[in-house]
Amino acid sequence: MTYRSRLLLYVGMLIVLLLGMMTLSFKAARDVIVEGAEDRLRHATLRKQDRVLAEREELRHYTQIITGDLRLQEYLYIITELGTSSEGLASYYERQFGSLPTDYRLIMTGDGEVLLGEDFLRLASEVRRHLVPGSPGHFYFRSEHGVVMVVTASVLYQGQRLATAAVARVMDQAWLARQERRSRDYLLLFEEDGKVLWSSNVLYRGQPVDLKDNTVQEGEQLMRLSSIPLEGAAADVPRLWFGISETRLIKMLESYQRWVYSFAVLAALAVLLVGWLMVRNFGRPFAQLMEITEQMIHGKLPVMPRSESRTEMDRLVNRFADVLDALRREQAKVERAHRKLQETAITDSLTGLYNRRYLQEIVTGLFAQVVRDERYLTAVLLDLDYFKAINDCHGHLGGDAVLVHFARLLKHNSRANDHLFRIGGEEFLILNVTEDPAASAVLANKIRELVSASPANYQGVEIPITVSAGVSCCPGKSAEGEATLSQLMRAADKALYEAKSNGRNQVVQHGSCREAAASVRRPGHIMLVSSRPAGNSES
Ligand code: GH3
Ligand code: MG
Ligand code: MG
Repeated sequence: MTYRSRLLLYVGMLIVLLLGMMTLSFKAARDVIVEGAEDRLRHATLRKQDRVLAEREELRHYTQIITGDLRLQEYLYIITELGTSSEGLASYYERQFGSLPTDYRLIMTGDGEVLLGEDFLRLASEVRRHLVPGSPGHFYFRSEHGVVMVVTASVLYQGQRLATAAVARVMDQAWLARQERRSRDYLLLFEEDGKVLWSSNVLYRGQPVDLKDNTVQEGEQLMRLSSIPLEGAAADVPRLWFGISETRLIKMLESYQRWVYSFAVLAALAVLLVGWLMVRNFGRPFAQLMEITEQMIHGKLPVMPRSESRTEMDRLVNRFADVLDALRREQAKVERAHRKLQETAITDSLTGLYNRRYLQEIVTGLFAQVVRDERYLTAVLLDLDYFKAINDCHGHLGGDAVLVHFARLLKHNSRANDHLFRIGGEEFLILNVTEDPAASAVLANKIRELVSASPANYQGVEIPITVSAGVSCCPGKSAEGEATLSQLMRAADKALYEAKSNGRNQVVQHGSCREAAASVRRPGHIMLVSSRPAGNSES
């Protein structure tokens, strides 16, 4: 797994963790809010329930006032026991109890005869129906305009039950509106078969009630409902509900959710940004190191730019650049040593001229050049005369000094494209690629004259020296690699031998040079070069 993908994995894990935490905190907060709202609804419903009970108790109190009235008891005694007419009862009742805030009132004998309130037929029949032994003294029934709350009590006279008095209040639209002023946040309603019958807010009349969720909706407003039980109400009596608006709660939750989502997205973006910065900050130097290492594997030691920043990563990169610099310095040293070794391998340590090994190395190239450019390769083979005698006379070191002296003369007087070799003890060779095959013989003669005029000096003693030379030539068209080198050398050797035989201190050209010079045919060209007064010769 790469460093980059590992980092991406960590970033992904962080984001998941973050989103998980945000979701959990949102859920917890939502639960707290929803539970709070439910508690509020429960408490408010209990208060409403108390209000309804208080109304019933108020009605009960009125019935006690009515049934406890002595004059009324006497009235009823006279009417029920002595059989007089009930005329006057109504006016007495109105006079005495007319100011009591009840909607309907009724007085009924034990036989079910209505003595007061004949107009309220429905009430009379409901009271008759509910007058059973053990009845709680209150009940509810559904009327056209609302639910009617009825409280009954017996009128007793001298321990004898004379009649039943009942008072009732209609819990209709107006009653609901009185209980709960029209507001956006609270609602009181009667529901029947999943529909709002009457409500403190008329807008809700006829709206369907969701009995699964206990909600009712009007436009954008959503009310959560809680039932207020009406004790003693029959199953066909509409149910009373109290509701609190949930719209604000939902809006609050929605805005909280939006906030949570935005925060989660921002946090995820921040984590991503941090991850990206880390990948970039670490990845770049890593990639640089990887690339440099790759180049090093292929034998390169590139220059690495240093970083100004002081982070650990940059310090590592800078140290790596130091290592590269050190390696480059070492490599330069090794290369220098290698060059020196190569030079030593191809040069003669005493004179600094090239040795036989180098002659073998370059000869192929020289012949190729000669063939390509259709030129001549000339060889001047030089051998110091009576060198053994110099050694004998001045010692080996004296001989060495003569060799060094002669080599210096060669170097200073040769041409730029001459290749100078020491190929034996006191034997030297000059190879030259030229258009003019006669020029090498001229050079050889010039050197011969110079040598005889410049004695060597060893420990203050002058050592006169002379040199003999044989010159050979090879034209480009016949040149063919190493085989021709030995021919060239043999020819030069032959000419040298002749120079030695003829008395030394002279230059002899081989026949190959004469042929070459003839093929060039240049007027005034020097064909034979000799040193000694009459020493010109050919072989
Ligand atoms: P000639 O004129 O016929 O060339 O006679 P010569 O004495 O020069 O030739 P010969 O081949 O007989 O002698 C060459 C001598 O060179 C033999 C050897 O001791 C000497 N010699 C070879 N290499 C070195 C060297 O590196 N240093 C010294 N001092 N002498 C060397
Ligand atoms: Mg020799
Ligand atoms: Mg010699």
